Amino acid sequence: AAKIINGVALAKEIKDEVKNEIDEVVASGKRRPKLIVIRVGEDPASKTYVKNKIKACEYTGIESESITLPTTVSEDELLNLINKQNNDDSVDGILVQLPVPEHITERKVCNAVTPSKDVDGFNVINVGRLCSDQMTFIPATPAGVMEVIRRTGIETFGKNAVVCGRSKNVGMPCAMLLHADGKYETQAGDATVTLCHRYTPPEQLPVFTKTADILVVACGIPKLITADMVKEGATVIDIGINRIVDEKTGKTKLVGDVDFEEVAKKAGYITPVPGGMGPMTVAMLMKNTMMAYKKEINFD
Ligand code: NAD
Repeated sequence: AAKIINGVALAKEIKDEVKNEIDEVVASGKRRPKLIVIRVGEDPASKTYVKNKIKACEYTGIESESITLPTTVSEDELLNLINKQNNDDSVDGILVQLPVPEHITERKVCNAVTPSKDVDGFNVINVGRLCSDQMTFIPATPAGVMEVIRRTGIETFGKNAVVCGRSKNVGMPCAMLLHADGKYETQAGDATVTLCHRYTPPEQLPVFTKTADILVVACGIPKLITADMVKEGATVIDIGINRIVDEKTGKTKLVGDVDFEEVAKKAGYITPVPGGMGPMTVAMLMKNTMMAYKKEINFD
């Protein structure tokens, strides 16, 4: 049976490292790092995500400010607010919780956050840096995937990795980090990567997933990955978050994209949902905020 990766414990380990670093800088008389989280509208999932991020800031000692704007806010008003935070020297990190309402162009919002404060890594400059193996703010979920792999001691060099899902914030950067050359600044995985997506023919998907030593799934489809699709001993990283009604209890519950119970019998390692990549994502955001505070990335 698979070793279940404890995302809560790993996330705590990372948050404790950030906390210790902050305790030290504060003891030396410097100000705390500061993160601004902007949310637009009333999306319930976004509310939960923002709440968890603010909680992690409190734990680590990052100063935070959560700004909620009404759904009716104009694009210009949002862009102006971002710009104000860009110009505020006491602010280290800025993130806009996605999705934004339809009348606002997501790309414009992502590009409005100045690259040096873009702790989500969604500005086109940072996306470009990631894709050219340069030091950058790696989006927190893919950064969490690589951190889980490293801290668990899973080998990627020369291995086969399959990523299901090609979104710009999750699937694509996961594939980028798994395949690129580990000798450059992003410390990528040197794996052979296959990227599957919604137009991968359903009968082809298992053909690819069965080749995976490392299988990363980010589609938003419960039980997309069943045990027959997984190679014996593979590492299975489940990023999906789906709210479904439990047949037994009638209550809603969170599940990933992987049939956890069955796949866990066959895999070597597996991340659970909840308690896997969710907490890791939040922890990596704390790490990125610390990087912004320390100005570790040279944007010149
Ligand atoms: P998205 O909807 O933007 O992307 C889904 C991807 O899945 C698409 O690229 C699509 O091509 C692919 N896909 C759809 N059907 C498929 C199929 N049958 N076979 C293979 N690929 C298929 O979503 P996203 O933002 O990338 O998020 C993916 C999932 O991860 C969601 O469940 C989301 O809630 C979750 N998520 C979790 C975290 C976290 O912190 N753990 C962070 C971000 C997203």
